[in-house]
Amino acid sequence: MTTTKFLLDESRMPRHWYNIAADLPVALPPPLHPGTMQPVGPDDLAPLFPMELILQEVSTEREVPIPEPVREVFKLWRPAPLFRAHRLEKALGTPAKIYYKYEGVSPAGSHKPNTAIPQAWYNAQAGIRKLTTETGAGQWGSSLAFAGALFDLDVKIFQVRVSYDQKPYRRALMETYGATCVASPSNETNSGRAILAERPDHPGSLGIAISEAVEVAATHDDTKYALGSVLNHVLLHQTIVGQEAMLQMEMAGDDPDVIVGCTGGGSNFAGIVFPFLGQQLRGGGKTKKRRIVAVEPAACPSLTRGKYAYDFGDTSHLTPLVKMHTLGSTFTPPGFHAGGLRYHGMAPLVSHLKQLDLIEATAYTQNECFAAGVLFGRTEGIVPAPEANHAVKGAIVEALRCKAEGRSEVILFNLCGHGHFDMAAYSNFHAGKLVDQQYDEKELAMALAGLPSVPA
Ligand SMILES: *Cc1c(COP(=O)(O)O)cnc(C)c1O
Repeated sequence: MTTTKFLLDESRMPRHWYNIAADLPVALPPPLHPGTMQPVGPDDLAPLFPMELILQEVSTEREVPIPEPVREVFKLWRPAPLFRAHRLEKALGTPAKIYYKYEGVSPAGSHKPNTAIPQAWYNAQAGIRKLTTETGAGQWGSSLAFAGALFDLDVKIFQVRVSYDQKPYRRALMETYGATCVASPSNETNSGRAILAERPDHPGSLGIAISEAVEVAATHDDTKYALGSVLNHVLLHQTIVGQEAMLQMEMAGDDPDVIVGCTGGGSNFAGIVFPFLGQQLRGGGKTKKRRIVAVEPAACPSLTRGKYAYDFGDTSHLTPLVKMHTLGSTFTPPGFHAGGLRYHGMAPLVSHLKQLDLIEATAYTQNECFAAGVLFGRTEGIVPAPEANHAVKGAIVEALRCKAEGRSEVILFNLCGHGHFDMAAYSNFHAGKLVDQQYDEKELAMALAGLPSVPA
Protein backbone atom coordinates (compact mmCIF):
# COMPACT_ATOMS: atom_id res chain seq x y z
CA MET A 1 0.00 0.00 0.00
CA THR A 2 1.43 3.35 -0.97
CA THR A 3 -0.10 6.58 0.25
CA THR A 4 0.05 9.67 -1.93
CA LYS A 5 -1.55 12.37 0.16
CA PHE A 6 -1.58 12.94 3.90
CA LEU A 7 -4.65 14.83 5.09
CA LEU A 8 -5.30 16.28 8.52
CA ASP A 9 -8.77 16.66 9.95
CA GLU A 10 -9.92 20.25 10.62
CA SER A 11 -9.81 19.46 14.33
CA ARG A 12 -6.04 18.99 14.08
CA MET A 13 -5.41 22.43 12.57
CA PRO A 14 -2.81 24.17 14.79
CA ARG A 15 -4.23 26.49 17.49
CA HIS A 16 -1.12 28.66 17.80
CA TRP A 17 1.63 30.09 15.65
CA TYR A 18 5.23 29.15 16.43
CA ASN A 19 7.59 32.05 17.23
CA ILE A 20 11.22 31.17 16.53
CA ALA A 21 12.38 34.28 18.43
CA ALA A 22 11.88 32.20 21.60
CA ASP A 23 14.50 29.65 20.51
CA LEU A 24 17.18 31.73 18.75
CA PRO A 25 20.70 31.13 20.08
CA VAL A 26 21.48 34.84 19.45
CA ALA A 27 18.80 37.56 19.59
CA LEU A 28 17.72 39.23 16.36
CA PRO A 29 19.31 42.69 15.79
CA PRO A 30 16.54 45.29 16.34
CA PRO A 31 15.09 47.54 13.63
CA LEU A 32 16.48 51.11 13.88
CA HIS A 33 14.87 54.51 13.46
CA PRO A 34 16.70 56.10 10.49
CA GLY A 35 16.71 59.53 12.18
CA THR A 36 17.96 58.61 15.65
CA MET A 37 19.63 55.25 14.83
CA GLN A 38 17.95 53.96 18.02
CA PRO A 39 15.81 50.79 18.10
CA VAL A 40 12.24 51.59 16.99
CA GLY A 41 9.57 51.28 19.66
CA PRO A 42 5.93 50.20 19.28
CA ASP A 43 4.86 53.87 19.04
CA ASP A 44 7.03 54.43 15.96
CA LEU A 45 5.12 51.67 14.16
CA ALA A 46 1.65 52.66 15.40
CA PRO A 47 0.78 54.84 12.35
CA LEU A 48 1.25 51.78 10.12
CA PHE A 49 0.05 48.72 12.05
CA PRO A 50 -2.55 47.88 14.73
CA MET A 51 -1.03 47.29 18.20
CA GLU A 52 -1.73 43.52 18.27
CA LEU A 53 0.45 43.04 15.18
CA ILE A 54 3.17 45.34 16.57
CA LEU A 55 3.23 43.22 19.74
CA GLN A 56 3.57 40.08 17.62
CA GLU A 57 6.41 41.76 15.71
CA VAL A 58 8.47 42.09 18.92
CA SER A 59 7.14 39.06 20.82
CA THR A 60 9.49 36.40 22.19
CA GLU A 61 6.67 34.10 23.39
CA ARG A 62 7.12 30.68 21.83
CA GLU A 63 3.41 30.17 21.11
CA VAL A 64 1.03 32.88 19.92
CA PRO A 65 -2.65 31.81 19.90
CA ILE A 66 -4.47 31.89 16.55
CA PRO A 67 -7.78 33.74 17.13
CA GLU A 68 -10.80 31.46 16.69
CA PRO A 69 -12.45 33.67 13.97
CA VAL A 70 -9.20 33.38 11.97
CA ARG A 71 -9.16 29.58 12.36
CA GLU A 72 -12.78 29.53 11.18
CA VAL A 73 -11.78 31.25 7.92
CA PHE A 74 -8.74 28.99 7.55
CA LYS A 75 -11.12 26.02 7.41
CA LEU A 76 -12.04 27.15 3.88
CA TRP A 77 -8.80 25.49 2.73
CA ARG A 78 -6.75 24.36 5.73
CA PRO A 79 -5.27 22.02 6.79
CA ALA A 80 -3.49 21.97 3.42
CA PRO A 81 -2.47 18.58 1.98
CA LEU A 82 1.00 17.04 2.09
CA PHE A 83 1.83 14.88 -0.94
CA ARG A 84 4.42 12.21 -1.58
CA ALA A 85 5.78 12.85 -5.10
CA HIS A 86 5.88 9.18 -6.19
CA ARG A 87 5.76 10.02 -9.90
CA LEU A 88 8.44 12.70 -9.76
CA GLU A 89 10.69 10.29 -7.80
CA LYS A 90 10.18 7.66 -10.49
CA ALA A 91 10.89 10.10 -13.34
CA LEU A 92 14.13 11.12 -11.62
CA GLY A 93 15.06 7.53 -10.77
CA THR A 94 16.04 8.66 -7.30
CA PRO A 95 16.12 6.53 -4.14
CA ALA A 96 15.14 9.70 -2.23
CA LYS A 97 11.60 10.19 -0.93
CA ILE A 98 10.17 13.56 -1.99
CA TYR A 99 7.30 15.19 -0.09
CA TYR A 100 5.65 18.52 -0.81
CA LYS A 101 3.29 20.67 1.20
CA TYR A 102 0.80 22.25 -1.21
CA GLU A 103 -0.32 25.79 -0.39
CA GLY A 104 -1.92 26.40 -3.80
CA VAL A 105 -5.25 25.12 -2.41
CA SER A 106 -6.04 28.53 -0.87
CA PRO A 107 -8.63 30.72 -2.64
CA ALA A 108 -5.90 33.09 -3.88
CA GLY A 109 -3.71 30.18 -4.97
CA SER A 110 -0.74 30.60 -2.63
CA HIS A 111 0.38 30.70 1.02
CA LYS A 112 -0.29 34.47 1.26
CA PRO A 113 -3.84 34.24 2.72
CA ASN A 114 -2.26 32.58 5.80
CA THR A 115 -1.16 36.07 6.86
CA ALA A 116 -3.68 38.23 4.93
CA ILE A 117 -6.57 36.79 6.98
CA PRO A 118 -5.09 37.46 10.45
CA GLN A 119 -3.73 40.87 9.38
CA ALA A 120 -7.16 41.95 8.12
CA TRP A 121 -8.84 40.54 11.23
CA TYR A 122 -6.55 42.36 13.72
CA ASN A 123 -7.05 45.61 11.76
CA ALA A 124 -10.83 45.19 11.74
CA GLN A 125 -10.76 44.47 15.51
CA ALA A 126 -8.84 47.74 16.02
CA GLY A 127 -11.57 49.69 14.17
CA ILE A 128 -9.54 50.31 11.01
CA ARG A 129 -11.61 50.77 7.82
CA LYS A 130 -8.98 50.85 5.07
CA LEU A 131 -5.79 48.97 4.23
CA THR A 132 -3.10 49.84 1.72
CA THR A 133 -0.52 47.49 0.31
CA GLU A 134 1.77 46.77 -2.62
CA THR A 135 1.80 43.80 -4.94
CA GLY A 136 4.30 42.58 -7.50
CA ALA A 137 3.04 39.44 -9.19
CA GLY A 138 -0.44 40.00 -7.73
CA GLN A 139 -0.44 37.05 -5.30
CA TRP A 140 -0.30 39.20 -2.18
CA GLY A 141 -2.72 41.78 -3.56
CA SER A 142 -5.34 39.12 -4.31
CA SER A 143 -4.85 37.56 -0.86
CA LEU A 144 -5.38 40.85 0.97
CA ALA A 145 -8.30 41.71 -1.32
CA PHE A 146 -9.92 38.37 -0.37
CA ALA A 147 -9.27 39.03 3.35
CA GLY A 148 -10.68 42.57 3.05
CA ALA A 149 -13.87 41.19 1.53
CA LEU A 150 -14.36 38.83 4.50
CA PHE A 151 -13.82 41.50 7.17
CA ASP A 152 -15.41 44.44 5.38
CA LEU A 153 -12.27 46.53 4.84
CA ASP A 154 -11.52 48.78 1.86
CA VAL A 155 -8.28 47.58 0.28
CA LYS A 156 -6.14 49.77 -1.98
CA ILE A 157 -3.34 48.01 -3.82
CA PHE A 158 -0.35 49.64 -5.50
CA GLN A 159 0.55 47.15 -8.20
CA VAL A 160 4.00 47.35 -9.79
CA ARG A 161 3.46 48.95 -13.25
CA VAL A 162 4.90 46.08 -15.33
CA SER A 163 2.74 43.50 -13.62
CA TYR A 164 -0.34 45.80 -13.77
CA ASP A 165 0.10 45.86 -17.56
CA GLN A 166 1.16 42.22 -18.00
CA LYS A 167 -1.21 40.48 -15.59
CA PRO A 168 -4.73 41.76 -16.20
CA TYR A 169 -6.30 38.62 -14.69
CA ARG A 170 -4.61 39.04 -11.29
CA ARG A 171 -5.97 42.60 -11.30
CA ALA A 172 -9.43 41.31 -12.26
CA LEU A 173 -9.25 38.88 -9.32
CA MET A 174 -8.38 41.71 -6.88
CA GLU A 175 -11.25 43.79 -8.26
CA THR A 176 -13.60 40.81 -8.05
CA TYR A 177 -12.84 40.63 -4.31
CA GLY A 178 -13.70 44.36 -4.16
CA ALA A 179 -10.23 45.97 -3.92
CA THR A 180 -8.96 48.99 -5.87
CA CYS A 181 -5.79 48.61 -7.95
CA VAL A 182 -3.48 51.48 -8.88
CA ALA A 183 -0.44 51.13 -11.15
CA SER A 184 2.75 52.12 -9.29
CA PRO A 185 4.52 54.55 -9.56
CA SER A 186 1.30 56.59 -9.44
CA ASN A 187 0.29 60.23 -9.19
CA GLU A 188 -1.46 59.58 -5.88
CA THR A 189 1.58 59.95 -3.61
CA ASN A 190 4.63 62.19 -3.23
CA SER A 191 6.86 59.10 -3.62
CA GLY A 192 5.15 58.14 -6.89
CA ARG A 193 5.08 61.68 -8.30
CA ALA A 194 8.81 62.19 -7.59
CA ILE A 195 9.67 59.03 -9.53
CA LEU A 196 7.32 59.81 -12.45
CA ALA A 197 8.81 63.32 -12.70
CA GLU A 198 12.21 61.75 -13.36
CA ARG A 199 10.97 58.95 -15.58
CA PRO A 200 7.32 59.05 -16.74
CA ASP A 201 7.49 55.49 -18.15
CA HIS A 202 9.05 53.95 -15.01
CA PRO A 203 8.21 50.18 -14.89
CA GLY A 204 7.93 50.30 -11.09
CA SER A 205 9.38 48.03 -8.43
CA LEU A 206 8.25 46.45 -5.16
CA GLY A 207 10.36 48.99 -3.25
CA ILE A 208 8.53 51.90 -4.91
CA ALA A 209 5.07 50.36 -4.45
CA ILE A 210 5.86 49.83 -0.73
CA SER A 211 6.80 53.52 -0.43
CA GLU A 212 3.47 54.57 -1.96
CA ALA A 213 1.37 52.26 0.23
CA VAL A 214 3.26 53.26 3.40
CA GLU A 215 2.87 56.95 2.57
CA VAL A 216 -0.91 56.68 2.19
CA ALA A 217 -1.24 54.79 5.50
CA ALA A 218 1.06 57.17 7.37
CA THR A 219 -0.95 60.21 6.24
CA HIS A 220 -4.49 58.86 6.88
CA ASP A 221 -5.83 58.12 10.37
CA ASP A 222 -8.37 55.49 9.32
CA THR A 223 -5.88 53.64 7.09
CA LYS A 224 -3.18 51.14 7.95
CA TYR A 225 -0.60 49.30 5.90
CA ALA A 226 -0.21 45.55 5.40
CA LEU A 227 2.94 43.80 4.18
CA GLY A 228 2.86 40.33 2.65
CA SER A 229 6.31 39.12 3.68
CA VAL A 230 9.62 40.06 5.40
CA LEU A 231 8.26 41.18 8.80
CA ASN A 232 8.46 38.95 11.89
CA HIS A 233 4.68 38.80 12.35
CA VAL A 234 4.17 37.73 8.73
CA LEU A 235 6.68 34.88 9.11
CA LEU A 236 4.98 33.97 12.40
CA HIS A 237 1.60 33.61 10.65
CA GLN A 238 3.11 31.31 8.03
CA THR A 239 4.34 28.80 10.64
CA ILE A 240 0.95 27.09 10.50
CA VAL A 241 2.35 25.51 7.29
CA GLY A 242 5.32 23.83 8.97
CA GLN A 243 3.34 22.76 12.03
CA GLU A 244 0.82 20.97 9.83
CA ALA A 245 3.67 19.48 7.80
CA MET A 246 5.24 18.07 11.01
CA LEU A 247 2.01 16.26 11.87
CA GLN A 248 1.70 14.99 8.29
CA MET A 249 5.32 13.78 8.12
CA GLU A 250 4.55 11.84 11.30
CA MET A 251 1.52 10.27 9.56
CA ALA A 252 3.84 9.35 6.69
CA GLY A 253 6.30 7.81 9.16
CA ASP A 254 9.18 9.87 7.79
CA ASP A 255 11.31 12.73 9.05
CA PRO A 256 12.86 15.14 6.53
CA ASP A 257 16.66 15.19 6.10
CA VAL A 258 16.44 18.21 3.79
CA ILE A 259 13.82 20.98 3.71
CA VAL A 260 13.64 23.29 0.68
CA GLY A 261 11.76 26.53 0.08
CA CYS A 262 11.95 29.46 -2.33
CA THR A 263 12.76 32.88 -0.90
CA GLY A 264 11.45 36.25 -2.06
CA GLY A 265 10.90 38.03 1.23
CA GLY A 266 11.26 34.75 3.13
CA SER A 267 7.74 34.04 4.41
CA ASN A 268 6.78 30.72 2.78
CA PHE A 269 10.28 29.41 3.47
CA ALA A 270 10.03 30.44 7.13
CA GLY A 271 6.55 28.96 7.29
CA ILE A 272 7.63 25.44 6.44
CA VAL A 273 11.10 25.60 8.02
CA PHE A 274 10.78 27.37 11.39
CA PRO A 275 8.75 24.73 13.30
CA PHE A 276 11.28 22.02 12.27
CA LEU A 277 14.24 24.30 12.99
CA GLY A 278 12.79 25.26 16.37
CA GLN A 279 12.58 21.59 17.33
CA GLN A 280 16.26 21.25 16.42
CA LEU A 281 17.27 24.41 18.34
CA ARG A 282 15.43 23.25 21.47
CA GLY A 283 16.89 19.76 21.14
CA GLY A 284 20.37 21.09 21.89
CA GLY A 285 22.08 18.71 19.47
CA LYS A 286 20.01 15.69 20.53
CA THR A 287 17.46 15.97 17.72
CA LYS A 288 18.32 15.29 14.13
CA LYS A 289 20.18 18.07 12.32
CA ARG A 290 18.38 18.67 9.05
CA ARG A 291 19.79 20.56 6.10
CA ILE A 292 17.66 23.58 5.24
CA VAL A 293 17.99 25.10 1.78
CA ALA A 294 16.68 28.49 0.62
CA VAL A 295 16.40 28.84 -3.17
CA GLU A 296 16.42 32.27 -4.79
CA PRO A 297 16.54 33.61 -8.36
CA ALA A 298 20.02 34.20 -9.81
CA ALA A 299 18.77 37.57 -11.11
CA CYS A 300 17.86 38.85 -7.62
CA PRO A 301 20.19 36.94 -5.27
CA SER A 302 19.93 38.71 -1.91
CA LEU A 303 20.96 35.75 0.31
CA THR A 304 23.79 34.51 -1.92
CA ARG A 305 25.17 37.80 -3.26
CA GLY A 306 23.78 40.53 -1.00
CA LYS A 307 25.44 42.17 1.96
CA TYR A 308 24.27 41.50 5.54
CA ALA A 309 23.73 45.09 6.65
CA TYR A 310 21.17 47.59 7.90
CA ASP A 311 19.09 48.88 4.99
CA PHE A 312 15.71 50.41 4.17
CA GLY A 313 12.82 48.17 3.18
CA ASP A 314 11.62 50.58 0.47
CA THR A 315 13.00 52.82 -2.26
CA SER A 316 11.90 56.21 -0.86
CA HIS A 317 13.36 55.40 2.60
CA LEU A 318 10.16 55.72 4.62
CA THR A 319 10.61 52.44 6.55
CA PRO A 320 12.83 51.65 9.58
CA LEU A 321 16.29 50.25 8.94
CA VAL A 322 16.44 46.48 9.31
CA LYS A 323 19.46 44.21 9.32
CA MET A 324 19.15 41.81 6.42
CA HIS A 325 20.83 40.41 3.33
CA THR A 326 20.28 43.21 0.84
CA LEU A 327 21.18 44.14 -2.71
CA GLY A 328 20.61 47.81 -1.81
CA SER A 329 17.22 49.53 -1.68
CA THR A 330 17.82 51.24 -5.06
CA PHE A 331 18.69 47.96 -6.84
CA THR A 332 16.24 47.12 -9.66
CA PRO A 333 16.53 43.46 -10.71
CA PRO A 334 16.32 42.66 -14.45
CA GLY A 335 12.96 41.38 -15.72
CA PHE A 336 12.07 37.76 -14.94
CA HIS A 337 8.81 35.99 -14.33
CA ALA A 338 8.91 35.17 -10.63
CA GLY A 339 7.59 38.62 -9.65
CA GLY A 340 7.21 37.55 -6.02
CA LEU A 341 10.98 37.00 -5.78
CA ARG A 342 12.03 40.43 -7.09
CA TYR A 343 12.67 42.09 -3.71
CA HIS A 344 16.02 43.71 -2.88
CA GLY A 345 16.10 42.47 0.72
CA MET A 346 15.23 39.43 2.83
CA ALA A 347 13.33 38.83 6.05
CA PRO A 348 15.61 39.80 8.99
CA LEU A 349 14.84 36.45 10.68
CA VAL A 350 15.85 34.44 7.61
CA SER A 351 18.98 36.59 7.15
CA HIS A 352 19.90 36.12 10.81
CA LEU A 353 19.62 32.31 10.50
CA LYS A 354 21.78 32.42 7.37
CA GLN A 355 24.35 34.50 9.23
CA LEU A 356 24.32 31.92 12.06
CA ASP A 357 24.91 29.14 9.46
CA LEU A 358 21.67 27.42 10.43
CA ILE A 359 20.41 27.49 6.82
CA GLU A 360 22.00 27.27 3.35
CA ALA A 361 21.16 29.35 0.28
CA THR A 362 21.49 28.71 -3.44
CA ALA A 363 20.41 30.53 -6.62
CA TYR A 364 19.11 29.28 -10.00
CA THR A 365 18.21 30.98 -13.30
CA GLN A 366 14.62 31.13 -14.48
CA ASN A 367 14.97 28.72 -17.42
CA GLU A 368 16.28 25.90 -15.22
CA CYS A 369 13.48 26.62 -12.74
CA PHE A 370 10.78 26.54 -15.44
CA ALA A 371 12.21 23.26 -16.77
CA ALA A 372 11.84 21.85 -13.24
CA GLY A 373 8.27 23.20 -13.03
CA VAL A 374 7.33 21.60 -16.35
CA LEU A 375 8.70 18.21 -15.24
CA PHE A 376 6.72 18.60 -12.02
CA GLY A 377 3.53 19.39 -13.96
CA ARG A 378 4.03 16.39 -16.24
CA THR A 379 4.55 13.99 -13.32
CA GLU A 380 2.57 15.34 -10.36
CA GLY A 381 -0.06 17.29 -12.34
CA ILE A 382 0.21 20.63 -10.57
CA VAL A 383 1.64 23.54 -12.57
CA PRO A 384 3.64 25.53 -10.01
CA ALA A 385 3.84 29.32 -9.73
CA PRO A 386 7.11 30.65 -11.23
CA GLU A 387 8.28 31.42 -7.68
CA ALA A 388 7.50 27.88 -6.51
CA ASN A 389 9.51 26.51 -9.48
CA HIS A 390 12.61 27.58 -7.56
CA ALA A 391 11.69 25.25 -4.70
CA VAL A 392 10.88 22.44 -7.17
CA LYS A 393 14.30 22.95 -8.79
CA GLY A 394 16.00 22.90 -5.37
CA ALA A 395 14.23 19.66 -4.42
CA ILE A 396 15.14 18.01 -7.74
CA VAL A 397 18.80 18.96 -7.30
CA GLU A 398 18.76 17.30 -3.87
CA ALA A 399 16.98 14.21 -5.23
CA LEU A 400 19.57 13.83 -8.01
CA ARG A 401 22.38 14.23 -5.48
CA CYS A 402 20.79 11.38 -3.50
CA LYS A 403 20.73 9.32 -6.72
CA ALA A 404 24.41 10.01 -7.40
CA GLU A 405 25.33 9.14 -3.79
CA GLY A 406 22.94 6.19 -3.62
CA ARG A 407 21.23 7.60 -0.52
CA SER A 408 17.56 7.36 0.32
CA GLU A 409 17.12 10.70 2.07
CA VAL A 410 13.77 12.31 2.83
CA ILE A 411 13.24 15.64 1.06
CA LEU A 412 10.41 18.03 1.95
CA PHE A 413 9.63 21.20 0.04
CA ASN A 414 6.98 23.90 0.09
CA LEU A 415 4.96 24.09 -3.11
CA CYS A 416 3.80 27.57 -2.17
CA GLY A 417 1.43 28.30 -5.07
CA HIS A 418 0.01 27.26 -8.43
CA GLY A 419 0.80 29.00 -11.70
CA HIS A 420 -2.65 29.32 -13.26
CA PHE A 421 -2.29 33.09 -13.59
CA ASP A 422 1.21 32.73 -14.99
CA MET A 423 0.56 30.69 -18.11
CA ALA A 424 1.89 33.48 -20.37
CA ALA A 425 5.28 32.88 -18.76
CA TYR A 426 4.97 29.14 -19.48
CA SER A 427 4.04 29.95 -23.11
CA ASN A 428 7.21 32.03 -23.39
CA PHE A 429 9.21 29.17 -21.91
CA HIS A 430 7.76 26.65 -24.39
CA ALA A 431 8.55 29.07 -27.25
CA GLY A 432 12.16 29.35 -26.06
CA LYS A 433 11.64 33.05 -25.38
CA LEU A 434 12.62 33.20 -21.71
CA VAL A 435 15.92 35.01 -21.30
CA ASP A 436 18.23 34.40 -18.34
CA GLN A 437 19.16 38.02 -17.80
CA GLN A 438 22.14 38.78 -15.60
CA TYR A 439 21.74 41.58 -13.10
CA ASP A 440 24.03 44.54 -13.73
CA GLU A 441 27.16 44.14 -11.52
CA LYS A 442 27.78 47.89 -11.72
CA GLU A 443 24.26 48.68 -10.57
CA LEU A 444 24.60 46.22 -7.70
CA ALA A 445 27.91 47.78 -6.65
CA MET A 446 26.33 51.23 -6.77
CA ALA A 447 23.26 50.17 -4.80
CA LEU A 448 25.48 48.51 -2.15
CA ALA A 449 27.74 51.59 -1.98
CA GLY A 450 24.60 53.59 -1.16
CA LEU A 451 23.75 51.53 1.96
CA PRO A 452 23.06 53.77 4.96
CA SER A 453 25.96 54.00 7.41
CA VAL A 454 24.97 52.74 10.84
CA PRO A 455 27.19 53.21 13.91
CA ALA A 456 28.33 49.81 15.26
C1 LIG B 1 4.79 36.07 -2.72
C2 LIG B 1 5.18 34.75 -3.15
C3 LIG B 1 6.50 34.29 -2.94
C4 LIG B 1 7.58 35.10 -2.33
O1 LIG B 1 7.35 35.54 -1.04
P1 LIG B 1 7.93 34.81 0.25
O2 LIG B 1 7.64 35.79 1.33
O3 LIG B 1 9.40 34.61 0.05
O4 LIG B 1 7.20 33.54 0.40
C5 LIG B 1 6.79 33.00 -3.34
N1 LIG B 1 5.88 32.21 -3.93
C6 LIG B 1 4.62 32.62 -4.15
C7 LIG B 1 3.67 31.68 -4.79
C8 LIG B 1 4.23 33.91 -3.76
O5 LIG B 1 2.98 34.31 -3.97
